[in-house]
Amino acid sequence: IHSMQIPMDKLQDIYKKYDKNKLITKLDNHKIVKFGGFAGNYQIKIQEKTGGKISVDVGTIIIAGGTKQYPPAEGQFKYGISSSVMTQSEFQEKYDKKGLRKISRAVILLCVNQRLDPESKYYSQVRNQFGSEFLTTSNCSNVCCARSLKIAKQIKEQNENAEIFVLYRDMQLTGGKLEQVYRELKNDVVFLRYDSAAEIEPKIIKEGGSGANGRIYISFNEVNTKTKIGLEADILVLATPIATSEKTLDLARLLKIRTEKYGFFQEEHSKVLPLNSTRKAIFLCGSVQWPNNPDLEVSQALGAAMKAANFLAEGYYEGLAEVAEIDKDKCIGCGTCIRLCPYKAITFNIEAKHYVFGDRNIRKAEVNPLICQACGICMSECPVNAIIIPNSNDGAYINMIAQFAEGKEEGN
Ligand code: SF4
Ligand code: SF4
Repeated sequence: IHSMQIPMDKLQDIYKKYDKNKLITKLDNHKIVKFGGFAGNYQIKIQEKTGGKISVDVGTIIIAGGTKQYPPAEGQFKYGISSSVMTQSEFQEKYDKKGLRKISRAVILLCVNQRLDPESKYYSQVRNQFGSEFLTTSNCSNVCCARSLKIAKQIKEQNENAEIFVLYRDMQLTGGKLEQVYRELKNDVVFLRYDSAAEIEPKIIKEGGSGANGRIYISFNEVNTKTKIGLEADILVLATPIATSEKTLDLARLLKIRTEKYGFFQEEHSKVLPLNSTRKAIFLCGSVQWPNNPDLEVSQALGAAMKAANFLAEGYYEGLAEVAEIDKDKCIGCGTCIRLCPYKAITFNIEAKHYVFGDRNIRKAEVNPLICQACGICMSECPVNAIIIPNSNDGAYINMIAQFAEGKEEGN
């Protein structure tokens, strides 16, 4: 839960209510290991905690996935050296598990390794360290500003007299509710605008000889007053990048759902078909499309549930208008397309009597039009050009290239 609109205890009530519903089966810590079929008839194989496997046939699927908060680079901000330095997610875990130790002053530092200039000293270091092509060091993670308000409130709840400083580059708070919370908190929390996180090098102020739990000292340039400010604090909470998680990516690969360049799930069409994944009857909510605040996640969940219910209530659906078609007279039954189709949309039709040659069947490939996603792989690999996707033939592409070239010449 990123911000403060839906407290955990309210969610627990919802969980309890649905636990009692006999139509809902909850499978915690299970893993989808195999996936096939098509809209209205998806087949899922699930590995149980005990190692056993169960198969489930479903008409439609809603994916409500999460994200992952990356830590800072090694040694950066004294992270990993001082237990007083933590990410926002780690703060939340501590708070949820056992509450907070006594805090008299806290600093929450936003935009750590986010919205970085590619020239900045941490840009390549962070990306190289985590080796993830999806780590969004140049983007805004969308939820950290709201999370900082929640964390400030939680610290205040348990430490009434604590001084809290939120250091920000810009406060990105969407929606009137969050703006309202921000305005109210300004009475108790000091919001200061800083220049660049790369210039902040915290120092550990040793305490009791160990130094590990010592106070942290940071100094930074305050933009509005153009002054250098130094702060000592008991904890330093860092808003590091939030990116797609490996589990979410694994799911996208298994379900063959397209992801965008940052590894988040892509909608079929953000304006015309929001919440529809790139596969029929699979819908999206939560933070699988980008890190979202809970109010948006809840709206998306309601929308996805409505779309899934509509799909099932319809009782039928139309496949894609243009899918792969196989010319059976040309097909030599080599099996290349069957091997390469990522959606397992092609099989041999050995039953067809009119293909019997002598005493054996000549295998012919056949496309299931409800599974085919018109990706074109089979068409480009068939050795005898037996496969076409209407309007995606060589002529269509040559025309497209020609038009593009013409446009270029005209300077378009
Ligand atoms: S790749 Fe072409 S020839 Fe080979 S099985 Fe498929 S359609 Fe037939
Ligand atoms: S176009 Fe793509 S999805 Fe359709 S049958 Fe060919 S390889 Fe499979």
